[in-house]
Amino acid sequence: MDNTTTSIKHISVNDGYKFRRIADVMNCCFGKHYKGCQKSFMYVDESQKYTVWFPKMTIKKNGVYKVPANAKGWRNVLSDDGGIIIEEKENDSRSGTADGKGGLPRYTFGYFPKEGYVFLGIFQVDRDRTRKGHWEFRRVAAEADLCRYHGEHGFDMPDAVSLKINEQADSDLITELRNGGLDGFAEDFAYSGKPRKVRAFTMRDGVKIYPRDRQAAANALAKAHFLCEADKDHLSFIRKNSDKPYTEPHHLIPLAFQDRFEVSLDVEENIVSLCSNCHNEIHYGADADKLIEKLFAERCSDLKRAGIDIFLQDVLAMYGYDR
Ligand SMILES: [Zn+2]
Ligand SMILES: [Zn+2]
Repeated sequence: MDNTTTSIKHISVNDGYKFRRIADVMNCCFGKHYKGCQKSFMYVDESQKYTVWFPKMTIKKNGVYKVPANAKGWRNVLSDDGGIIIEEKENDSRSGTADGKGGLPRYTFGYFPKEGYVFLGIFQVDRDRTRKGHWEFRRVAAEADLCRYHGEHGFDMPDAVSLKINEQADSDLITELRNGGLDGFAEDFAYSGKPRKVRAFTMRDGVKIYPRDRQAAANALAKAHFLCEADKDHLSFIRKNSDKPYTEPHHLIPLAFQDRFEVSLDVEENIVSLCSNCHNEIHYGADADKLIEKLFAERCSDLKRAGIDIFLQDVLAMYGYDR
């Protein structure tokens, strides 16, 4: 693949993508703008949780392993089922304990002569089988979501069906709070200040839907003292099954965008309390960008602490405002 402007958001070992150069992989898959790159092992981004690896693969020919001339003595053999890579080198200078960078998950693109760099999956070292001079890697995933590496280039909007079904899920949450009352919210709720894990999604009409936690929503309303966060003076009314004023929870970063994040968006830090009028405005108003800007400015640092790191421009784009 020569086209370095192609942006790949999802990759699977079944895709059959082939990349000519390491820079092509970095640019297409990881949102970089490299002219060239020689490193065969590196971090993919500042978070330093993932690495990318470009082993030169050793192929068996007529029963004999042929180490490629450019592999600098490294023998990397892929098992027939594609699940294991064994890497060996005589006089390997590494300790064999796989501490640090070596132990992190690696997006692995094996180099095959005549083919180029081929995605083999995400591999991680198998410590029990690794020793000095002999490292074993096990495939932990055959596909990878690369959306998070494309933030600087914007992102794909979920399609209309996904947005509609997510909106339905949001309104189901409001109905639940309406019917079930607000029981269980914490009176003096305080943010945990920590990211929360993404919860398992379910499928609804062919769309991924992440669960909305009623407790988190009620806590967020309590934190706002059941007032509208657009303006505390907005008038509301008292709920039938509670003595609290009626406001509605709204996820500032909509859950339809959950797949762009490694952490849960369904956290109190991301839920604002809005009166019915303002809630409608943020979804359907022509000038809702001003409201979004205000709420985001107030939440920005709390969102960061919850691991939700995003620029205002990207938030506005999620609501259909291009800046
Ligand atoms: Zn909403
Ligand atoms: Zn309001």
